[in-house]
Amino acid sequence: MPVRELFADRIEQECIECADVHDVAFTAFTVGVKRETQVLSKLMQLPPCPVCGAVEFLASSPDAEPDHPAPGSFGHKHKLLVDKLNADMVRAGRYLSELDPATLLNKEPSDTTMQQWFPGGRQLRRPLKDDHPGGGQ
Ligand SMILES: [Zn+2]
Repeated sequence: MPVRELFADRIEQECIECADVHDVAFTAFTVGVKRETQVLSKLMQLPPCPVCGAVEFLASSPDAEPDHPAPGSFGHKHKLLVDKLNADMVRAGRYLSELDPATLLNKEPSDTTMQQWFPGGRQLRRPLKDDHPGGGQ
């Protein structure tokens, strides 16, 4: 699942199943997933892993999401990256036509927030063991 780095037009993804690291272009997926009659605006379905075929979903924050309980943790920073990716995707026009783009940017992290947690760029490495606050990288 993890997004390792967010670029202008693609992400670097690490497969949760086989740990393969590969690029996924914005043009290869969309914001929003259709489930029968529903469109889930907070999900992005990534294309199958080229190595093992695993299909992963990225979930952006619900509009009413409270502040993360462990600021600086891997989980917190990954959520920020996914929320930023979500916003970048919307601006690139990569969302299902059923969705209203004005409602899709509610949880975009501010530039200040991104600079605070990603001073070295929009990248993140999975911690080797526990998810310690302030850990990673
Ligand atoms: Zn894989």
